[in-house]
Amino acid sequence: MRVMLGRYEATIVSAGTFALDGGAMFGIIPKPLWEKKIPADDKNRIAMGTNCLLLRDGQRTVLVDCGMGTKWSDKQREQFKVDTTLDATLPAAGCQLSDVTDVVLTHLHFDHAGGLTRLDAAGDLGMTFPNARVHVGRRNWEWAQRPNDRDRGSYRDDSWRPLLSTERDRLVLVDDVERRARLFDDIEAVFCEGHTTGQMLPLVGRGDQRGLYGADMVPTRAHVRMPWIMGYDLRPVELLDEKRQLLGLCADESVALVYEHDASEPLTGIDRDGDDFVPAALPAALASSSSSSSSSSSSSSSSSSSSSSAAGAGGAP
Ligand SMILES: [Zn+2]
Repeated sequence: MRVMLGRYEATIVSAGTFALDGGAMFGIIPKPLWEKKIPADDKNRIAMGTNCLLLRDGQRTVLVDCGMGTKWSDKQREQFKVDTTLDATLPAAGCQLSDVTDVVLTHLHFDHAGGLTRLDAAGDLGMTFPNARVHVGRRNWEWAQRPNDRDRGSYRDDSWRPLLSTERDRLVLVDDVERRARLFDDIEAVFCEGHTTGQMLPLVGRGDQRGLYGADMVPTRAHVRMPWIMGYDLRPVELLDEKRQLLGLCADESVALVYEHDASEPLTGIDRDGDDFVPAALPAALASSSSSSSSSSSSSSSSSSSSSSAAGAGGAP
C-alpha cells in the first residue's frame, strides 16, 4: 500500500510474519475477548505482521524498522513461526537493499531490528543494508546494552553488534528534547517510554498528509482500544498516558496510524469513541493518494526462497 506523506512516497512493506503468545500480546484482556479479534493457533500463538515503512523523496530512501531478519535456527523458526520476506517485498516495491540510505529503528527488540544484520556465506555477521546509516534513540540504545530481567529476551545483540565495532560510523544516536526530535525533513520522532525505554515513533509528513508509525505502542488494530495493551510493556501506566495522547493526535488532526504487527490491515485512520478510540477509514487526504502495491501480494509466494537465499544475498559491507 502506498500513500503520500508530505514529501515522501510512503510504502508499507511486509518483512514477513511470525507468531507470539496471544495472552502476552493482550495483557489483562481475557482470551474470549481477544480471540474474537485475532484467533490463536493450537499453541495459543497469534499471527503477527512485521510491517516496515519505506519512505522515498527522490533523495533519501528511509526504511522504518526491518523485521525479524534471517538469523534463526530451525527450532526458533518453529517456535516463532518465522517467515522472512523482505528480500522479495522490498525489490517488489522498487527498492534494493543497497538503495536504503537510512534505517530508522523504533527500538532494538528483535522483531523490529533483527533484519538489520545477517550472516554471510562464511557465517560472519554483517549489515543487511550496505549503504545505510542507522538511527536509534540514544536512550533505547543504552538500555539495549543493559536490559533488565524482564526484557532481556527481547534484546538480542546480534541485531546490532557490528555497530559496536567495525560499523560504528554508521550509527546515529538520536537525542530527544522533551520527547521529540527531528530526524529529516517531514519526519519527526516522538519518544515513548511505556513499552520500553526510549521507543521512537516516526511522525511522517505535513499538513493533512501525515502518518504515525505506531510500532509497539499500538501494534495491531486490536490494540487501539485503551485497555488493550501488551503484557510485554515495561511501564503500562505510562504507556496508557502516551497512547491516549497520540491516538488523540491521530483522531483530532486526521493523522493515519501504521500498525507494525497487524497481519492483515497495516494502516487506518483513528476516530474518538467517547473516552476511547476506534480504527476508522483513512483520512480523506490520504485515501485520495493511496494505491495498492505489488509488494504485499508477492510476500506469500516468495517467502520460502527468500529465507533460504538470505544468508548470502546481502553480504557484509
Ligand atoms: Zn518491542
